[in-house]
Amino acid sequence: MAKKDHDTADTRLARLILALRSQGVSDSGVLNAIETTPREAFTPDLFKARAFEDSALPIACGQTISQPFIVGLMTQALKVDKRDRVLEIGTGSGYQTTILSKLSRLVYTVERYRTLMREAEARFKTLGLTNVITRFGDGGEGWPEQAPFDRIMVTAAASDEPKALLSQLKPKGILVAPIGRGPVQSLRRYTGDGKGGFEIEALTDVRFVPLLDGVAKEL
Ligand code: SAH
Repeated sequence: MAKKDHDTADTRLARLILALRSQGVSDSGVLNAIETTPREAFTPDLFKARAFEDSALPIACGQTISQPFIVGLMTQALKVDKRDRVLEIGTGSGYQTTILSKLSRLVYTVERYRTLMREAEARFKTLGLTNVITRFGDGGEGWPEQAPFDRIMVTAAASDEPKALLSQLKPKGILVAPIGRGPVQSLRRYTGDGKGGFEIEALTDVRFVPLLDGVAKEL
């Protein structure tokens, strides 16, 4: 352990990328986006030393920044193209948003905590991201004014099939979301068949905070 404490940030990042590869994140675009996104900029001071660990970490408002492997897996599963307009539900720290912004044309992201939204906006500014549009609101309702989207990613667990969000997807679009009520949910990919139906795949088990109704009353 002592040795690890003296590793440079580059070494820790390289080790993290290797760990993601060994778990099946193979898309070079996704790996490159993760490699060029400073995760420590998205974690609270208390946890910065652990930013390169492959684990979820606490952020403000009782929420979490996702585990890098899950971010890699979900981003890869979404098959994002440079021309895509992407809707993300659950901005949180903005880490996943930043990865998506590097792989797509435009990211619309919705968060129900004002504090998290403001902190994430400040990070996007510092990082010089120009293709992220934020909204404080209930992401369960999607973003009807900007629909339809090529891709939708939900980073909080929906209790059931997210019908409102699926209705805002292009006919051949892809939505990735954790689905389930319990502490462990099923990560599902919905791929539009072009005729109003979806192919549904269960990718793996995941643990996400729940997708809650309405905006948070507290800050
Ligand atoms: N993608 C984030 C992880 C976010 S954790 C990251 O990389 O840091 C899930 C986030 O979803 C939390 O910030 C939570 O407040 C938010 N959330 C939960 N329900 C929501 C809803 N209905 N609308 C918008 N955001 C929601």
